[in-house]
Amino acid sequence: MEYRQTEGIVLICTPFQERHVIATLFTADLGLARFFVGGGHSQLSALSRVECLYRDRGGSTLLQLKEWTLLDPYLILREELGTLERASFLGQKLLQSQLPLKPAPALYNLLLLYLAYAPLAINSATFTTSFLIKLLKHDGLLALPERCMECEAPLQAAALIRGEAFCQAHAPSWSPLFSQDEMRDLRTLAGARSMREVLDVRMEDSFRLKVERLFGELTESIY
Ligand SMILES: [Zn+2]
Repeated sequence: MEYRQTEGIVLICTPFQERHVIATLFTADLGLARFFVGGGHSQLSALSRVECLYRDRGGSTLLQLKEWTLLDPYLILREELGTLERASFLGQKLLQSQLPLKPAPALYNLLLLYLAYAPLAINSATFTTSFLIKLLKHDGLLALPERCMECEAPLQAAALIRGEAFCQAHAPSWSPLFSQDEMRDLRTLAGARSMREVLDVRMEDSFRLKVERLFGELTESIY
């Protein structure tokens, strides 16, 4: 089988037997991909950007990595704990939400953008929450309609359930309600085209928690 090339960000490396490693990368054209890395090539480190030469292993979702070249060690991500935490968060959420070998080139570009801004994003909550919103939107799990599904009243505060939205009167009691301001921030962050626009949004911790809960519910129910 012939070798192909891609590039990606290393998310996790798990030792396998004595000399080998199973590396999970988020790649430019395969999405989330797992590679068998034979001994001698095992010095991959998490959160580095690499170019890979790989091939299929006959129907297995585990690919064979022949060789790799370091494109960027992203040392800047390791200079400060907050930066490392923000960068690691991105990887964890991709691992939780993406199916293996489902190409997502737009998400790869989004990841590169967020990694570039991880050292600069002093407001961690805005940084991480906006990434979750972008992920949900990318995967078609976040619709932000203007009207209640039940009564068609224009939405002010709303409950968001599986891509549908309900006004306060029709929201189930168990579902957190996004206030009118929070709905505005959701729309701003989902539609933002630059990091400047994203990082200008100031948010309360309660908003971050609601978005994390929404992300948890939607990714668990779908995958
Ligand atoms: Zn309603």
